[in-house]
Amino acid sequence: MLLPTELFADANAEYKDAEFVIFGAPFDGTSCFRPGSKRAPSAIRKASYNFEPYSPHYDVDLGEIPFCDLSEINANTVDEMLTIVRETVRGIVNDGKIPIMMGGEHLLTYPCIRAFDDISAVVLDAHLDLRDEYAGDKQSHACVSRRIIEEIGATNYVSIGIRSGAKEEYDFAKKNEVRFYTVDQIQSEGIAHVVHDAIEHLNTDRIYLSIDVDAIDPAYAPAVGNPEPFGMVPTDVKYVIRSLAPYTLGFDLVEISPDYDHGQTALLGAKLIREFIAAKVSI
Ligand code: MN
Ligand code: MN
Repeated sequence: MLLPTELFADANAEYKDAEFVIFGAPFDGTSCFRPGSKRAPSAIRKASYNFEPYSPHYDVDLGEIPFCDLSEINANTVDEMLTIVRETVRGIVNDGKIPIMMGGEHLLTYPCIRAFDDISAVVLDAHLDLRDEYAGDKQSHACVSRRIIEEIGATNYVSIGIRSGAKEEYDFAKKNEVRFYTVDQIQSEGIAHVVHDAIEHLNTDRIYLSIDVDAIDPAYAPAVGNPEPFGMVPTDVKYVIRSLAPYTLGFDLVEISPDYDHGQTALLGAKLIREFIAAKVSI
């Protein structure tokens, strides 16, 4: 258990009063290129103390918003981890609160989505993550969007920031009409157009938003498991968070691998979480 001073900054509420519930999922069991995302929750928490509680954009003070930090949840095996994440999120959702997971690796988004009934997913990612299996394993960060689509259906899923995948993943996306938006598209059409199109396509007011931080360009977010050049700019990610906030019922931020950081990726991660809370509470 963490000390109160080690929890996410301004997460001062008790669970019963909280509208938002943060938790850390320090698990990187299937990571391949640069493991270490299990150390992200503590790096993000430390970084969160850099910021003022007051959001001038929304004229809200995070110190006055009821949210809490459940500290870490962990397990020894992949199966146990998937189960405990799903049960944790389900408990939070059943209590009428908004879960915010700090990963950990991207596979953990799958049990978060499974915790909801009737949900659509918006995933920010450099990678399609549509492999059926990776290194012989279906439960891998590289397969997470495939698992999500099996759960909720391709029509209830979009991804934004895409610029990498195996040929078989692009073939799967085409065959199954998986809607994804590339960074080239964002740059030519503008993020506002892309988000508007995604909202129209999903046609729902129940969205789970997952941010694989490698969606963002490595110049801004170098400390990720699988860095991929030519990425999104952080202000476009902020725009996505703000625009989707009215519909977002659950949120996660995954794949930061802080060993490769001078602190800037953890800072950006902490800021995006704070931005989500301020945006959601200001609707
Ligand atoms: Mn991913
Ligand atoms: Mn990725």
